Amino acid sequence: MLWPGVLNRIRQFGPAPSAPLTLEARALGAYLGLAVGDALGATVEFLTPNEIRHQIGLHRHLTGGGWLKLRPGMVTDDTTMSLALGEAILLSGGRVDALLAAQAFDQWMRSKPVDIGNTVRRNLMRFRRTGEPCAPPSEHDAGNGAAMRLLPAALATFGLDADTVRDAVLAQAHVTHHSPLSDAACLTLTGMLHALLAGADKKTVLQQHVQPLIQQYPVFGFRARRCDNPSGYIVDTLQAVFQAFFDTDTLEDCLIDVVNRGGDADTTGAIAGMLAGAHQGPKAIPRRWLSVLDADTRAACELQSWLLLPAVLA
Ligand SMILES: [Mg+2]
Repeated sequence: MLWPGVLNRIRQFGPAPSAPLTLEARALGAYLGLAVGDALGATVEFLTPNEIRHQIGLHRHLTGGGWLKLRPGMVTDDTTMSLALGEAILLSGGRVDALLAAQAFDQWMRSKPVDIGNTVRRNLMRFRRTGEPCAPPSEHDAGNGAAMRLLPAALATFGLDADTVRDAVLAQAHVTHHSPLSDAACLTLTGMLHALLAGADKKTVLQQHVQPLIQQYPVFGFRARRCDNPSGYIVDTLQAVFQAFFDTDTLEDCLIDVVNRGGDADTTGAIAGMLAGAHQGPKAIPRRWLSVLDADTRAACELQSWLLLPAVLA
């Protein structure tokens, strides 16, 4: 049950465009950005850029449809797994606990979600059999499934010490994805989110978070060629997200850019959306998207974006 007074208060966090954004506004922008990016991208998931051009033109509205036959404004596993993780974190008073996260994801899988990734399904079935929340290390589990749902863990650890952040981010990731590339991506995205939530500009985020990732894992380098039709491999996903995020000026342009590349468009949209939303806040999200976004999803994102911040949890 949602508390309308709280929601109204959260909705007022977006200040005038010229005023500095508050932490709460950036957190709200990140969560709503994740959801609208997911809903926008789901329509064109698994299409190529050419197929999108021929079937739709430039895809820029929350029309639903796609291979999942969604209603306009419906989200997919990226957002619903995030909300499941957020609930688990709130239940444990702000701690990211691997067992609670695994149980929350298992419950989520039992709710018959509209879609579920292969690695997520396989390792949640393993959790059901073994009760062990940490998947065994596997270089093959380098999909984007842990990165797409990390926002609640990033919000709940904002401002906390580096070890706590790392433990929390990897605890939720390893329930289903235990690979060095997924780990590096999750830690980098969390660092980027924390910097953006604190008001850092894109250039600083690129220098302090993305370039060190590329130094350690050159495969994430994203300047050699345009990444179209990105797969669910975390390297492809982040290359497309980085190109769209760093080469556009607004959240709207960033999300339209990234989803029109097709491929795993709901997840590139979700990840780009959380970054751009943390950077620009909720007012940067086009009204035509927010008004169509599923109302229950929107309310849950709004509530969690606020409740998960450590200052509120304390
Ligand atoms: Mg999805």
